[in-house]
Amino acid sequence: MAMRYLDTRDLDSSRPTFTEAVVKGIAHGGGLYVPERIPAVTLEDVLSLADLPYAERVARVFAWFEVDVQPARSLELARAAYGDQWDDERIAPVEEVVPGMHVLELWHGPTSAFKDMALQCMPLYFSEAIAMQQQTGTLEDDFLVLVATSGDTGKAALEGFADREHTRIAVFYPHGGVSEMQRKQMVTQRGSNVAVFGVRGNFDDCQAAVKAAFNDAGFNRWLHENAHLALSSANSINWGRLLPQIVYYVSAYAEMVRQGGVVLGRPIDVCVPTGNFGNILGAYYARRMGVPIERLLCASNENNVLADFIATGTYDISARTFVTTPSPSMDILVSSNLERLLYHLAGPESVREWMRDLSEQKRFRIDRDTFHQMRAFLVGDWVSNDDSLATIKRLHQETGYLIDPHTAVAWEVAERLRGDNPVLVVSTAHWAKFGADVLRALLGLRHDDELPPEYAGRTPSALLDAVASTAGPRARVPQALAEIDALPERFSTVVNAGREGVEAAVRAWLTGA
Ligand SMILES: *Cc1c(COP(=O)(O)O)cnc(C)c1O
Repeated sequence: MAMRYLDTRDLDSSRPTFTEAVVKGIAHGGGLYVPERIPAVTLEDVLSLADLPYAERVARVFAWFEVDVQPARSLELARAAYGDQWDDERIAPVEEVVPGMHVLELWHGPTSAFKDMALQCMPLYFSEAIAMQQQTGTLEDDFLVLVATSGDTGKAALEGFADREHTRIAVFYPHGGVSEMQRKQMVTQRGSNVAVFGVRGNFDDCQAAVKAAFNDAGFNRWLHENAHLALSSANSINWGRLLPQIVYYVSAYAEMVRQGGVVLGRPIDVCVPTGNFGNILGAYYARRMGVPIERLLCASNENNVLADFIATGTYDISARTFVTTPSPSMDILVSSNLERLLYHLAGPESVREWMRDLSEQKRFRIDRDTFHQMRAFLVGDWVSNDDSLATIKRLHQETGYLIDPHTAVAWEVAERLRGDNPVLVVSTAHWAKFGADVLRALLGLRHDDELPPEYAGRTPSALLDAVASTAGPRARVPQALAEIDALPERFSTVVNAGREGVEAAVRAWLTGA
């Protein structure tokens, strides 16, 4: 029996299977897909993962969720997803950095950030799902994934979809609006089915243009008739990106037991640097499955709408502006995956009402009962830009362990909120991904300070060398980042903002013009 998926707003009654939900992405009517039931596991089930290689842990958890891919094939896909493109065969290792504070390292993948945990895996199941549906005749076209990115997601998506069958991917980033390292990572991307374009405008312009292309019937028709392609966004609300994020929480608990960090059955707290609420939602599902996770500590940066929501029960973006921080992947106003948590706590009628309030009034307020249910396991706090950099420096001085600014937000919140339980602090990026701000931190500078003149004009890799030598022997630069200066740039096209710019770029790419 395959698990079916329900719609958080109960407007879509199609009840897709896993592979169908992955291809559809979002429910008809704007809601998100959630599993019809959450599998319950025993402590022995959890512990049994400790003896398996990571890919087998993935296949086992996917089987608990009854994915509609044959078990042997699912294992093959998991092995391809979590193979030797990772620089640590444990894939998601847990390290006890100070007594009682365990770091879950989610950045051993090819782009050195946590998005790889899902984006190395999801495209394989996506491609498999397309092949399955083409075979049964329910689907004709291959898929073109369109991504607007402010930096990290674009690279992780490119790396995940590169040379995947039945898929192509085009990424649009704001020209001049991403770091030199992020630009380099994207424009040097390998693969015969990928394209990368700069857009004259900011991230919002990119996003608006991509969205407009999605909704343009003429463009969709042109793609179908001329290239046999349909559009997909593969974004972070796709269930195919969430399921892999449940696996590492189950896996981490098993690891902690094996390492002696917790006695089997005793609770831990988990602290997650949060933006779109996808990563921490993985921990919520693991908790619901029976993994002994007591509290979820939700860590925000100065874009602290979630911390306010958890404190007050009101989600309010009516008077908020976007703040620039050293942890850009958490800079967010609307935290899309929160809708799934609200569904599980309050059901579809409430979700419909709150999401309508959010779109009409830019705010919603949950009822007392839901608020109390939520407060029983979810706690939140936020960290200022200056404090996050100070945390990097302090932890490095005390332990020699170097963290990136996103992880620093979680570390600081974990220290403030920790109780008697061991804490699993989730580390979402390798420090080298955010080398300039890590260097500022080590030098005691602030986020908006210029780097000292001796660092000006350095290439991305050369800057990382400088950070590594400042930080000492434990600070190692991942090979792909260390070697990036030498890679040839494949993509240099910059297009105008707006739907026409995006569509013309895609047409020209697909027709070889
Ligand atoms: C995406 C991202 C986050 C936020 O994760 P969500 O799932 O959006 O909450 C945190 N840190 C890094 C480095 C990221 O790339």
